[in-house]
Amino acid sequence: MKEITTNHDPAELRQMLDYLGIAAFVIDVVANDEFRQAAINARHEKISGMNHAEVAGRSVDELLSPEMAARVKANYRRCVESKATTDYREALELPAGLTFWQTTLMPFFDQNGQVMRLLGTAHEISDQANLELEARYQSTVMSAYLDESSDGILVVDSQNRIKTWNRRFLELWDIPEAVMKARDGEAALAAVTAQLEDPDTFVKRVKELYIALDEEEHGVRIRMRDGRILERYSRGLHGPEHAYWGRIWFYRDITESQRMTEELLRMSRTDPLTGIANRRVLMEVLEDEYNRAKRYGHHFSILILDLDHFKQINDRHGHTTGDAVLREFSRIVALEIRASDCFARLGGEEFAILLPQSDLHSARELAERVRRVVTTLTVSGPQGTFGLTVSIGVASLAANDDNPEALFNRADRCLYAAKSKGRNRVCPESDTDDCERVTPEL
Ligand code: GH3
Ligand code: MG
Ligand code: MG
Repeated sequence: MKEITTNHDPAELRQMLDYLGIAAFVIDVVANDEFRQAAINARHEKISGMNHAEVAGRSVDELLSPEMAARVKANYRRCVESKATTDYREALELPAGLTFWQTTLMPFFDQNGQVMRLLGTAHEISDQANLELEARYQSTVMSAYLDESSDGILVVDSQNRIKTWNRRFLELWDIPEAVMKARDGEAALAAVTAQLEDPDTFVKRVKELYIALDEEEHGVRIRMRDGRILERYSRGLHGPEHAYWGRIWFYRDITESQRMTEELLRMSRTDPLTGIANRRVLMEVLEDEYNRAKRYGHHFSILILDLDHFKQINDRHGHTTGDAVLREFSRIVALEIRASDCFARLGGEEFAILLPQSDLHSARELAERVRRVVTTLTVSGPQGTFGLTVSIGVASLAANDDNPEALFNRADRCLYAAKSKGRNRVCPESDTDDCERVTPEL
């Protein structure tokens, strides 16, 4: 045991410490909770920004903030109590700024074997400590992100071994944590593929990406057997000099947003009263059909239908009955047409049917069939039962039509011809002057 029997004065201590090539300090142990700074050397002054003359003889409590003093004293006490050399790292906010130290305390004893003085030597490790601190900070942010993310995240290393994952990943894929902890990529892949509608495509793509190290993937949709839809993002992870470190996979459950998108799309294309297509859809189909017909020389035709004296129905039986008539009309007309035909409500009591690849003759036949079936309807309202008739204009694409509206307008003119000739009739464009009057069958 080293024994110090004479008390050196601070200047003498300081001189001794200056021989050391590293930052050094001496602490006098006054009591269990009281430590005095006896000396610091020149190197310490340089790094800490403290001054030997100002600190010598002052207690640690005077020199440091209560929080720092508590930490520093805890380390001193450890050395005093263990009576052994003590190493530790510490971060101190000193006059020179925040500094990190790797410190070694060596105890010196009095005649009774009690520790009376501590010699500290300290390496400044701020650069390294800052790096470690930054890494700790990054990993704290990263794990908070992993924990809270609504994406399921999986990271694999360059050998495709499971590196890390988050809670959401386990939830989305319903994989037991034990499988992940075993870091067995094949077992995890098997657990995943068992839940997929199309496991082959999934596996093929995953294997492709494991080879295409630089490839990024955005928004690939994956359908699950239980009806959920996941969206996948994936990218390679690269270190310095583009060294391949592995790949990160993000899985997002888009089932609900997809359902809402589809519902909004459906709503934007559907007439809410009758459930059939709306005007917008018809106009789109008309445009598409026109372009196709021009390119391939197809025929196509359009029917425009308008219920006769519908205002009277509303006036006599009320709007609710009027609505029921529109629904019933749509229902029975829909039964007469093919799936490839587009039946839409243009607005009010006006409808259209677009017939792809139909010439005027077959369009007229369908129109006649629709007209006839409408006359078979019997509707009951508050004022008793009543029948229904419809007038229909029919037109087919002509060689000199240079836009889809031309055809639509011709069919509309035919409809008005049918109205003016007495209603409940079909008026094809070739004989608007001569469309046939049909006696209602009811
Ligand atoms: P026309 O034979 O000449 O076609 O006569 P009409 O009475 O059928 O035609 P008009 O255009 O004068 O009246 C159409 C009526 O359709 C007027 C309007 O109140 C009614 N209507 C429009 N949309 C709706 C609807 O969504 N529900 C109901 N119940 N009535 C509607
Ligand atoms: Mg009408
Ligand atoms: Mg009308």
